[in-house]
Amino acid sequence: MKNVVLLGSTGSIGTSTIKVADDLPEQIRLLGLAAGNNAELLFEQTRKYRPEAISVSDPAKAQALQDALGSSTRVYSGNEGLIKLATLASADLVLIAIVGTAGLQPALAAIRAGKDIAVASKEILVMAGEIVMQEAEKNGVRVLAVDSEHSAIFQCLDGKPASSVRRLWLTASGGPFRNTPKAEFPAITVERALKHPSWVMGRKITIDSATLFNKGLEMIEARWLFGIEMARVSVIVHPQSVIHSMVEFVDGSILAQLSTPDMCLPIQYALTYPHRARSDRVETDLAKLGTLTFEQPDHDRFPALKLARRAGEVGGTLPAVLNAANEIAVEAFCGGKINFPQITEVVARTMDRHTVSQHPTLKEILVADAWARDEALRG
Ligand code: NDP
Repeated sequence: MKNVVLLGSTGSIGTSTIKVADDLPEQIRLLGLAAGNNAELLFEQTRKYRPEAISVSDPAKAQALQDALGSSTRVYSGNEGLIKLATLASADLVLIAIVGTAGLQPALAAIRAGKDIAVASKEILVMAGEIVMQEAEKNGVRVLAVDSEHSAIFQCLDGKPASSVRRLWLTASGGPFRNTPKAEFPAITVERALKHPSWVMGRKITIDSATLFNKGLEMIEARWLFGIEMARVSVIVHPQSVIHSMVEFVDGSILAQLSTPDMCLPIQYALTYPHRARSDRVETDLAKLGTLTFEQPDHDRFPALKLARRAGEVGGTLPAVLNAANEIAVEAFCGGKINFPQITEVVARTMDRHTVSQHPTLKEILVADAWARDEALRG
């Protein structure tokens, strides 16, 4: 039985994680659950799974939950609540699926408390990959991938060292605008950008998949998770989203992990690692699929990939700046303040204005993050 703390239990990854826990009642116990604002769903989840402790962003909502639940469950709030949950004495694994940067401090707290972490929130490794991986090594804990691409690479690597790798290949569906002419980009609406061809996900990551910033963030995430420099991390467009990613080894052999897209599969692998548990959720009919295709990403229409490569290569505080500026730009796009191509323009301009600090401390990263959020929409 693994005691799992789930941060972001009310979101897309969070609810898929709960499905996996439902499938494996003998193997997974939900020890702690944390949500942002959705106290109603958190309440239902708490009544059903009876976790030891829960947390919600707003202290008033936490008090209302505590009153409704009685003393059987401890209820916390805010960032402090996330840290309390991430360090619960009997937790074995903390799965972090909070959108945005709020997962970073709880991730570090969990690592320092000796817990394995499973990372869905890519912001954590994009912002502070160097610190997170160093702390994990120092504390002898695992950083497991939840993202389908990184789970695929992890499964293909199967413990082989970085020196055995020629290149990591991250696959990208290409998003909803793979075939849309550049001239039409300024007229792209939020509704169209929110229709992803292969995956049903939270709002922010769906827009990131349309600009390809999601793939850019994943490149930086892969660089840290697998200890491989950016020059050896490549992206290939694979519209069917059946090959989740590949590892090309130094002898020219390429290993890939395949399945019809379903986030429950990589989530389950992270939760049960190093074992594989039985699941009937995913079946892949290759004959029915017929054809798997590949194409080069179009850097002219999707400049996000080159911006992310630059941020990853320069390193220091630049990836945190890219991430924060992109979050602000996505919000502005969703609020009708900027158009679709301007998301990338905002990020590029903010990166150009930033003075990079190399090997930053956590404090310096948070300062760079706050600076970028302020700067992004300054024009
Ligand atoms: P959602 O928007 O669906 O869910 C976000 C979750 O984070 C919700 O549970 C939300 O709570 C919670 N949350 C937000 N802010 C806070 C906070 N300050 N404190 C506590 N909880 C908070 O996002 P996704 O599930 O799609 O994505 C989550 C992360 O996983 C992102 O980093 C994304 O990039 C990554 N990811 C997602 C994939 C997917 O398929 N969805 C695939 C791979 C990675 P509430 O709703 O209660 O406000």
